[in-house]
Amino acid sequence: MSTNNDQIKQRNLNRYNMLCDIFYNGPKRRTQIAEKLSIRKSSITSIAEELIRQNWLTNIDTAHPRSPLCFNKKKCCLALSHETTKLRAGLYTLDGKLFKTSKVSLHKNMTYDDFLYETNLLCSQILHKSKSKALMVGIALPGIIDSTNNNVLHSASAPQLSHKNLGDDLSHILKLPCLIENDVRASLMGALWFEPKWHNLQNAIYIDITEGVSTALLVNGTLHKGFNNAAGEIGHIKAGDQNRKCHCGKIDCLETYISIPALAKTVELNGFFSIDELIQKLQPQQLENGLNSLANILRPLIAAIDPEIILLGNQEPNFYKLCMPILKKLLKTNINLEIVSDSNSSALTGIASKILNAIFANTHQLLH
Ligand SMILES: [Zn+2]
Repeated sequence: MSTNNDQIKQRNLNRYNMLCDIFYNGPKRRTQIAEKLSIRKSSITSIAEELIRQNWLTNIDTAHPRSPLCFNKKKCCLALSHETTKLRAGLYTLDGKLFKTSKVSLHKNMTYDDFLYETNLLCSQILHKSKSKALMVGIALPGIIDSTNNNVLHSASAPQLSHKNLGDDLSHILKLPCLIENDVRASLMGALWFEPKWHNLQNAIYIDITEGVSTALLVNGTLHKGFNNAAGEIGHIKAGDQNRKCHCGKIDCLETYISIPALAKTVELNGFFSIDELIQKLQPQQLENGLNSLANILRPLIAAIDPEIILLGNQEPNFYKLCMPILKKLLKTNINLEIVSDSNSSALTGIASKILNAIFANTHQLLH
């Protein structure tokens, strides 16, 4: 006999599958959803009624209560991405379309309170301009993130956020449920959520080479976080013996051999430069030397994970296109390497996917 609890679980699962069906396949009639998901039509009708009442779903033709169901465009999710010198904000509809962006510069010396103030201002302005209502907010940022407890355990590039309960503080200020996630893990989640061919990936390594170098790991269909939430953080592993000083205080970290700043240093590019300038100056051998340090650390990781694919981050597609064949040659592997294609910031898209997943799964008991 099924208990009340089982029934709630089953209803939540049906609700999740129904929302995913509309998300991936567009507006659908109740009968079509019931057939596709093998769920009784009465259950679909009842869930649809609830979601319409909560203003998440609406009938395409509001005059016809049995017309196909689609997402209500007035509800959205608010995604934030902490990048080196800026905080980027994006509003996504519940069907995953980015419809408004904004950003604010971040200063090196800003305090935690300054950061919360700027974030609040950015969020209030973007929501005010769009006239839409956010159901949830999420922020992706570099560093060691305990996403279960909403804590930033350590962030070298945003030290003022270290040891802070950022998720709860933002939730309090913005009066919205808030999720936080490491930027590279968020990027991997975004690739899995938005790219249909990767939906069912079980084991994958996602590599991100930007200001630093880091990986996110998918093991048996789950994001692998590790004991200290630091799984995949390869940037500060010793990777050479050229006595290169790392900003973390250690010597010869992988980031001092392969990262955008490390490569810029190799070709003596100072100050502000574009990635295309770097690509032009960089000799193939110089890039190969850097990637060789990365390959040395990836090989045992590949042996441990046994991935079906290695994904390369997308922030700078031209740079990754250059890296891909060299890395493949150095790894001497038959594993497929692919660049994640995303015209937006992958971390922003990634945190949006985490929010959508939480909204669909109804894990945060949202107010409507
Ligand atoms: Zn280091």
